[in-house]
Amino acid sequence: MKSVMLTKKCTKCGLTKDRAVFPVRVLYTPGHGGNNYTFMDKNQMRDIFVEAIHWGFNGYADWFDSRDHSDPFVPNSKDDFSVTQWKLMKANFRTAHALGLKCELVLTPNQVYVDQDRPELAAAEKGRIFGQLLCPSKPQARAIILRNHENIFAGLAKAGVKLSALHPFLYDNGGCACEKCRPWVLTWAKLCREIDAIARRYHPGIETHMVGWWWTDEEHKLLKDWADREAPGWVKSFSLHIPYGGTDVSNVPLPKGCERRAFVHISFAEDEPFHPDSSGDENAKKRPRDTYGWLGPVIAATRLERTVANLRAHGCTGVVAYSEGIFGDVNKALLAGLTSGKYNCADEVLFAYAERYFGADPDTSLQWVNWLRPWGWPFNVNAQEASEILKKFQKDASHGTWQLRQWQCKAELLRLNAVIMRDTDWSPERLAKVEQFWAVKEQRMEHDLWGYPEPEDHRHRTPVPWYKSWDRYVSDK
Ligand SMILES: [Zn+2]
Repeated sequence: MKSVMLTKKCTKCGLTKDRAVFPVRVLYTPGHGGNNYTFMDKNQMRDIFVEAIHWGFNGYADWFDSRDHSDPFVPNSKDDFSVTQWKLMKANFRTAHALGLKCELVLTPNQVYVDQDRPELAAAEKGRIFGQLLCPSKPQARAIILRNHENIFAGLAKAGVKLSALHPFLYDNGGCACEKCRPWVLTWAKLCREIDAIARRYHPGIETHMVGWWWTDEEHKLLKDWADREAPGWVKSFSLHIPYGGTDVSNVPLPKGCERRAFVHISFAEDEPFHPDSSGDENAKKRPRDTYGWLGPVIAATRLERTVANLRAHGCTGVVAYSEGIFGDVNKALLAGLTSGKYNCADEVLFAYAERYFGADPDTSLQWVNWLRPWGWPFNVNAQEASEILKKFQKDASHGTWQLRQWQCKAELLRLNAVIMRDTDWSPERLAKVEQFWAVKEQRMEHDLWGYPEPEDHRHRTPVPWYKSWDRYVSDK
């Protein structure tokens, strides 16, 4: 696939820019582990797709996370949750297809359902290798793995879904460290080929596109040599991993004819989600990170703008956006808006975002851009000031969409956090502020806006410096 060049004057900076459109722009929204998508019904997902298309996505990928489920294909399965999730997956793919999105499936090939995890068939786990994994070098285990995939392919075809692409993951979850499976990357590649052959029976023309999440350079080299020799032309593209802190994919060798693409993590703000262990920078390690919606919506305008420019310069032809929930809504708009060529720069996307969801007129849209962007580093924002500006904007806003209300929650959470951080003793006043903080986070945001059925105990994951001290204090009571 070739990138298309567009020339258009930017409405924000006034410059005329040439930009390459990425032909492939896939939104990957796995519902798993109790995240936001786990609780969305098919009408809510329809809204997600309609908006995704508006910003420029043209493909949709999903994954059936067997780690959370027993086998839904067992006749008369008693696992309602598993059966419901499978029905929802079919419905979501049907909706996406009807709206014109390409339907693509993410695979974690040797991970099986909870009721299939038998010790005598289990994979050897080590390091990056974890999960509910069977060893594909054991014939009985391999048969279970292949049957599981066939059930999904057949079920989707029967439901009228036409899959265009498979995206197998090597790790997370996946792998086997046993002698027979070594080197894992080649055992995995052969297994993926068998799975691909089954998929073709139900979805003619389906293609294999690999995801480079957690791959080493050595694994890329082994795969390239093997694919060029044994399976030329099979791997159509690689959505390569962008290391944390980076904004580009690496120059690893790819099989002949395989396109370079990127797997772009849109579920965290500007700073990488984890502390750089080896940096030696103690302050950097202590600095909290804004990831996975624990503190409300996230935005990474600078990171994504830079990433898209780098990927474009690197000849990438597509992106797979990794989304863990609707808290990453702004980042979805940014990535799709920039890679589709619909917008020139991040500010132009944010301007359009404010008009569309905050009911802002052209004047206030510009102010919204300036209000939104700094939240990429939320702990540097003066949340008190930001909350006051927000109140002024709200008078101008014609409606309160969930997109607007989640930013209200974020500003309030960070404002309360700043108040809590001023003290060190657990006075009744300070404890009351913490209760207010949880009420905004769990009731107003997670339950009312995001649809969590009941507040889950996510408190320990909330990246606020006072959490441990508070938890110790209330646990001792
Ligand atoms: Zn093995």
